[in-house]
Amino acid sequence: MSEVKALVGAVKNENGVELNGFQLKPVVEQCAGCDRVRSFEDAQYCSSYPDPARKWAGGRCNFATHAKAETVKAAKVNPLKASKRAAKGR
Ligand code: SF4
Repeated sequence: MSEVKALVGAVKNENGVELNGFQLKPVVEQCAGCDRVRSFEDAQYCSSYPDPARKWAGGRCNFATHAKAETVKAAKVNPLKASKRAAKGR
């Protein structure tokens, strides 16, 4: 597994860790392996979203670079474009 990059620009305050005015919460289990995970001190945070647990609460995180859910993707196929692609034989 590649090394986790450091969280740039984060500061520690009395509530925990803050980045650009956002209070950050540590990543959750589902974030493991995502390229957006950053480490700061002895915890890991998301470089794109301050509250990873909330990002996963409604299903898969849409910023996740890992664990791509094929079913989610398939459901998003535009039927018109799909039929054009099919007509072109692609
Ligand atoms: S982008 Fe989503 S999956 Fe990746 S670290 Fe952030 S919250 Fe976790």
